[in-house]
Amino acid sequence: ENIFQNKEFSADSDLNYDILKIRDDFSILGDVIYLDNAATGFSPQQVIDAMVDFEHNYRSNVGRGVHSLTQIASQKYWHAHEKVSRFIGGEKGVTVFTKNTTEAINMVAMGLSWKPGDRVITTVLEHHSNLLPWRALSKYGVEVDVIGIDSSYMPNLKELEEKITPFTRLVAVTHASNVLGVVTPVKEISEICHKHGVKLLVDGAQSVPHIPVNVAEIGCDYFVFSGHKMLGPTGTGVLWMKEADIEPLFLGGGMVESVTADGFTPETGYRKYEAGTSNIAGGIGLGAAVDYLTKIGMENIFEYEETLTKRLIDGLSEIQGVQLYVNPNPKKRIGVVSFTVEGINSHEIAQMLDETSDIMLRSGKHCCHPLMDFLGLKDGTVRASIGLYNTMHEIDLLIASVEEIVR
Ligand code: PLP
Repeated sequence: ENIFQNKEFSADSDLNYDILKIRDDFSILGDVIYLDNAATGFSPQQVIDAMVDFEHNYRSNVGRGVHSLTQIASQKYWHAHEKVSRFIGGEKGVTVFTKNTTEAINMVAMGLSWKPGDRVITTVLEHHSNLLPWRALSKYGVEVDVIGIDSSYMPNLKELEEKITPFTRLVAVTHASNVLGVVTPVKEISEICHKHGVKLLVDGAQSVPHIPVNVAEIGCDYFVFSGHKMLGPTGTGVLWMKEADIEPLFLGGGMVESVTADGFTPETGYRKYEAGTSNIAGGIGLGAAVDYLTKIGMENIFEYEETLTKRLIDGLSEIQGVQLYVNPNPKKRIGVVSFTVEGINSHEIAQMLDETSDIMLRSGKHCCHPLMDFLGLKDGTVRASIGLYNTMHEIDLLIASVEEIVR
């Protein structure tokens, strides 16, 4: 147990963060060093318990029927939506449960009505999931503009203003990069968008698990994220909308109030966008993940993770031949640390780290091919992505293992 004890952290900091207690909640951690949290994270026992409770005690469909089990399930499932919307400051909007971020972005892309000549702006930072759904709109005559990033990897806001035309309908931007860890200035972007009457979609897949998020403060129109990256179950995600102003992509049972011979009246609120039987256990589990994160506090999580991030960046930057791709500003980054090692392919590094040290991290292009082209990285990068249960000891082991491989 002691190897995980983060003595230095507790000695130096007055942060109320009980890493040992947190690690106890994740039985999967065991002997592996898991630093692939940007791909997906682990769920604490509390999330698993919430899902098992549904399966054991009140499994039934939601929003249908009057019997007691469906009443309990519907209430818990609805309550999970309430928790998630409070967690992101989105009480005034509509919080829809989806399968993941990708589905949520597609729902917006396909749910808005487009005219030939309309334009969408994204950035070179985007994950393929926040690029391809917009490009697919070319079938309606919609064109996509892509803006670049500066030397700190921040989106170029001057270029954004220049690229906005009277035909620009929407800007789609990531809140935090899954490759470079940079946290983008979404509030400023939101102000620019609204000055020009353009809607804003923010991809929060990497921000919600690591920093406090308030969609009302950001002022965006759509905010999307994945449950499985924030301690929730796989197959869960969220589409938050300021107003329910898109057409539902999926039609069928559960999303209608009434159907006549020639039409239908949709349900209101999130139900209009959740056709068919949902991932009910998953949604309830996502609510439990939000409870868990709220209890620790997102400020605490950000502060703790940044301490590990700084140590990792400092340690790796001292190794000869290692090139880092990170934002130097500790207030504008999450614990996603990309690097390359001169002369060694990124997949080889990841494989060696797994084989020699049980360190699990990601290598390659991270579903961001245009960004890799922009950075000139044809082999991609090695990416360590930190979660709230990682320890300083694990970070030191990673640094030592990379050092050893290089040597
Ligand atoms: N956007 C970003 C920034 C991501 O990092 C990811 C996943 O890595 C996605 C979107 C897609 O998430 P999902 O696979 O859960 O749909």
